Amino acid sequence: MRLIILGPPGAGKGTQAERICDAFEIPHISTGDIFRANIKNETELGKQVKSILDAGGYVSDDLTNAIVADRLKQDDAQAGFLLDGYPRTLPQVEALDEMLAQDGFRLDAVLELVVDDEELIARLLKRAETSGRTDDTEDVIRDRQALYRKETAPLADNYRERGLLVDVDGEGSMDEVTQRINDALGGVASR
Ligand code: ADP
Repeated sequence: MRLIILGPPGAGKGTQAERICDAFEIPHISTGDIFRANIKNETELGKQVKSILDAGGYVSDDLTNAIVADRLKQDDAQAGFLLDGYPRTLPQVEALDEMLAQDGFRLDAVLELVVDDEELIARLLKRAETSGRTDDTEDVIRDRQALYRKETAPLADNYRERGLLVDVDGEGSMDEVTQRINDALGGVASR
């Protein structure tokens, strides 16, 4: 399975991504996790992106594309993967299309978790109490949400036109959402 999980900050992508990856035995490739690990380990990349992540902005397409291209070349990603947090812009969509085409691969589906804006803010503020993430403050959360609506939400239309988008209701308990995703992916696996 080659999947993308799309959804605004707070939609529950990380949690659901872990569960999907366990079920399908594919690697969970989260650009946010890659950036945060580099910041934590104080690598060159980490130093370059720290202030961008803290402000809730997007890392440049060139840098992000290069990191994903490198990750997708690794052995564990040859039989499938789930991308979480990537692509986030239309140029990243194009870059990913090229990376996959070079290897003769194609995407199976793009899952979009749909959650109401106010519910998202409430979830993120709650997460902020325990996450330790420096970008989980109310102002930065609102900025990340606005940037998502502007830059990333249009990706859903692109994938919908290509027949790849699978919308999943992201409200309710985590288990309910997992069940909906499993049902939706059952349909993808058999098509
Ligand atoms: P969330 O989905 O909660 O916003 P992520 O963990 O996916 O968080 O990403 C955290 C931050 O990492 C983003 O706000 C952004 O600064 C950076 N980032 C992650 N993925 C990308 C990407 N594909 N392009 C640009 N910046 C990214």
